[in-house]
Amino acid sequence: AKTSGGGRRTWFDPIMDQLADADAKLAADLRTALVRDELFLHYQPIVELPHGRLAGVEALVRWRHPEHGLVSPGVFIPLAERNGYIVELGRWILHEAVRQTAEWEREYGANAPEKVSVNISARQLREPGFVDEVAALLRSSGIDPHRLVAEVTETAVLGTGEALDAVRALHALGLRIALDDFGTGQSSLSLLVDCPVKVLKVDKSFVDGVTGSTAQAVIVDGLIGITEGLRIEAVAEGVETADQAYRLHKMGYRLAQGFHFARPMPASDIELLLSISTSG
Ligand code: C2E
Ligand code: CA
Ligand code: CA
Ligand code: CA
Repeated sequence: AKTSGGGRRTWFDPIMDQLADADAKLAADLRTALVRDELFLHYQPIVELPHGRLAGVEALVRWRHPEHGLVSPGVFIPLAERNGYIVELGRWILHEAVRQTAEWEREYGANAPEKVSVNISARQLREPGFVDEVAALLRSSGIDPHRLVAEVTETAVLGTGEALDAVRALHALGLRIALDDFGTGQSSLSLLVDCPVKVLKVDKSFVDGVTGSTAQAVIVDGLIGITEGLRIEAVAEGVETADQAYRLHKMGYRLAQGFHFARPMPASDIELLLSISTSG
């Protein structure tokens, strides 16, 4: 059991022990989740403003735990990052997303989602051989590397030199690099200079304030000018209302993602959207 400070146990240590045990149990379950087929991907549409045409999708991992039901990636991804299991998990996610991209391309051709985004964690970027794995995956799948978007956070890229090198190498392979959750990390505009960023994903916490006369609204408005000048695509994340979508469009945003347009959904539901747009 963990002890706090000078080795003396306090009243909350038993609670901390229980939390650590629950964490360890969940971590053990996660290791078997892959072989037991409990993991799957959902895809959330990224749409063009104002009409909502599908521009791409973001792959988001889901875990159906046999006892706890759906466990949020907000819980198990940080857990997997802490214990290093994210490397194996992330490998599976990337393979599955690329497999799905290739399948869509075969079945829907020019109507397939043009871009497929995959979240890449800092730990994966630092893993030696990661870039070579991605290169091999691209070769064997035959998909156009430009259709694959690697979503990384500012914190991940700023964390280590290796991470920035990996991001540059992914860019050299032809992947598009998106800076995720922009504005929430150790934001540094110099990252837009040092890193080959093609897409800026403006975090929901800023988008939330976009309809008011808030500091967030001023920042969201200012960012569009920066991205246009740098020829970077801006995606507004977490758009939940028509008002927000309208304001973002007026500011000059061309791309958005959020519950107002569509929630993350199974690949089969994305296919329904594709068949509607082809028959329409
Ligand atoms: P993220 O990469 O920022 O993904 C966007 C999250 O915002 C998703 O949550 C999505 O469901 C949610 N979202 C989208 N639109 C809205 C909206 O309008 N309102 C609200 N309230 N939420 C919205 P999700 O799927 O629970 O994922 C949470 C986080 O877990 C992700 O944040 C990402 O950091 C991580 N994650 C999810 N899937 C993966 C993955 O495959 N690999 C890695 N490394 N991380 C992942
Ligand atoms: Ca993301
Ligand atoms: Ca995000
Ligand atoms: Ca987030």
